[in-house]
Amino acid sequence: MFDLAARDIKFLPGVGPQRASVLNKELGVYTWQDLLYYFPYKYVDRSRIYTIRELDGNMPYVQVRGQILGFETAGEGRQRRLIAHLSDGTGIVDLIWFQGIKGLVGRYKMHVEYIVFGRPTVYNGRINIAHPDIDAVAEAKFTSGGLQPFYNTTEKMKRSFLSSHAIEKLMANVVQQLTGPIPETLSASILAAHHLMPLHEALANVHFPGNAELLRKAQYRLKFEELFYIQLNILRYAHDRQRKYRGYVFSRVGEIFNTFYSQNLPFQLTNAQKRVLKEIRRDLGSGRQMNRLLQGDVGSGKTLVALMTMLMALDNGFQACMMAPTEILAGQHYATITELLAGMDVRVELLTGSIKGKRREAILSGLLSGDVKILIGTHAVIEDTVNFASLGLVVIDEQHRFGVAQRARLWTKSSQPPHVLVMTATPIPRTLAMTLYGDLDVSVIDELPPGRKPIVTIHQFDSRRASLYESVRKQIAEGHQVYIVYPLIKESEKIDLKNLEEGYSHVCDAFPDCMVCKVHGKMKPAEKDAQMQLFVTGEAQIMVATTVIEVGVNVPNASVMIIENADRFGLSQLHQLRGRVGRGAEQSYCILVTGYKLAEDTRKRIEIMVRTNDGFEIAEADLKLRGPGDLEGTQQSGVAFDLKIADIVRDGQLLQYVREVAQKVVDEDPKGELPENEVLWKQLKALRKTNVNWAAIS
Ligand code: ADP
Ligand code: MG
Repeated sequence: MFDLAARDIKFLPGVGPQRASVLNKELGVYTWQDLLYYFPYKYVDRSRIYTIRELDGNMPYVQVRGQILGFETAGEGRQRRLIAHLSDGTGIVDLIWFQGIKGLVGRYKMHVEYIVFGRPTVYNGRINIAHPDIDAVAEAKFTSGGLQPFYNTTEKMKRSFLSSHAIEKLMANVVQQLTGPIPETLSASILAAHHLMPLHEALANVHFPGNAELLRKAQYRLKFEELFYIQLNILRYAHDRQRKYRGYVFSRVGEIFNTFYSQNLPFQLTNAQKRVLKEIRRDLGSGRQMNRLLQGDVGSGKTLVALMTMLMALDNGFQACMMAPTEILAGQHYATITELLAGMDVRVELLTGSIKGKRREAILSGLLSGDVKILIGTHAVIEDTVNFASLGLVVIDEQHRFGVAQRARLWTKSSQPPHVLVMTATPIPRTLAMTLYGDLDVSVIDELPPGRKPIVTIHQFDSRRASLYESVRKQIAEGHQVYIVYPLIKESEKIDLKNLEEGYSHVCDAFPDCMVCKVHGKMKPAEKDAQMQLFVTGEAQIMVATTVIEVGVNVPNASVMIIENADRFGLSQLHQLRGRVGRGAEQSYCILVTGYKLAEDTRKRIEIMVRTNDGFEIAEADLKLRGPGDLEGTQQSGVAFDLKIADIVRDGQLLQYVREVAQKVVDEDPKGELPENEVLWKQLKALRKTNVNWAAIS
């Protein structure tokens, strides 16, 4: 059989050692198969030929047909260019080259019919096409119509004459050399059930579409396959893991939970909270280890859900712990939870780096004896030194600071892995969560507690700062507090710190009657805590800060969030920051301050922020604007988003569909033994071998 994966790319006609090395380095293409799976990023309809008279400067790529009437060169040095005047009888268009002029001289002839392809632009009132693709009519492939593939290329590739056009020719060479059909990688039953084009046909059509319909079918088949194997991989791992790790069974809802529910719970649960608690209960009773991601926008009441889940653990004779990313947040959780449990006989302890000596020892021994029921702390503390009598549940707040590897380490804390509830306010779009945390089940709190006033978001130009400060003064006069945030970007920390310091003294000058506190990431923890404390207690009316306050801080009396240089923040960051206000009963405001000049995507970000408070809508928009590789939290997750053809945003529905198909395969063939699935397991094995990231997903 013709094994494409075994054929070195350098032996493909038209490649050779030098170009092979460029293809290796630039595209990671080593074999003929790799090349075939390098898909076009777009197609251009070359079925239509325009007349030159029709052209204007606003068109996408077009194709004209004509003869060159003459050449000229113009300009000096780097401005030097070669111009050819092309006519089709309806008008003249200038073809222009700025590079590679020497090689071009003599290549194209006058009075020969050419098909010219490129993007027309207007310069000095004349229409021209720079660096066009030119084929003599006699040999042009696309004169009679068709979709031409376009491949991404890099500068280095271009220097080795590996243009999109050249890649296209190499693809044709691969296809020509095939002696038989490319072996199928999906099972016959899946192909039939989902009406998928066979692999061979799909690969041929994705590079050389017979027509638009065949292209669509080819793309669908290839996307289906790509997403299917990602899901099959995750679900297979999840299945194996569930077989390996049994979970504690929390069968009872008992006295502690019920007492809390009937006597201590200060308000009605929202419907979303109730639903999520049900989902959690089902997990805890299932005998399998729970691995659940709880998503809920800032202020949606996740802490309460976490607490009630912990109480279920307690009712079944287990301990629970809750981890927060910072000491401040751990402290806040501790305060909230002890208050909520007031009057109940449940020992709750807080453990942070600053709790030392006897006090620490008492907590540690209380954990070992089982006397401490709930431990609240920072990630760092709990990871290293703490041992429990019977840890049954771990709650992790703000998951994006807590990686997969750290999660795994928790399992060593007891003989069986505890149930895990991960909470995040960074709404990860569902499609992304599926690929990222395939084995984490997802619960969503999609409802805020009643009575919240939506935060009003305003875009303000920095030239209007005086009037902005005027409104701030009014808020402070009414007894409210204000955050002012400055950007902090790693590469320019020094400059940013300077911005922050300048901002700080500026704010101090502008508000002489107020106490202003200041927090940034370079401060020592103790110093930072002291400054935070000033704000939490209400002594300071204004807090000037970098994004260190992004996550979790709860000061219900703060009603204004001013974000300076808002153009320098990502969407999800802006949303997180905005979530610091609007936690009390008062109307709150978020002011996004920028200069007049804004790039297009910045303007879009700001518009979205002004338009909506919905974290999921913002996360989806963020995904669309930035692409998944940039999304917060995805970098640490160990999943590279090198999807070749599917698009996590646009193909979200397909992903969902394909996940069910993969789930069915795993359910029906848990041990990978059915002959009809042989091709699937073989392909999965091959993919796991070549894609190192796939091993990290579980
Ligand atoms: P987050 O999801 O951001 O962690 P919190 O758990 O801190 O949100 O809850 C935000 C606020 O809403 C808290 O003050 C909490 O007491 C309150 N809260 C939570 N659930 C409800 C509810 N069902 N009804 C009213 N208020 C609630
Ligand atoms: Mg919270």
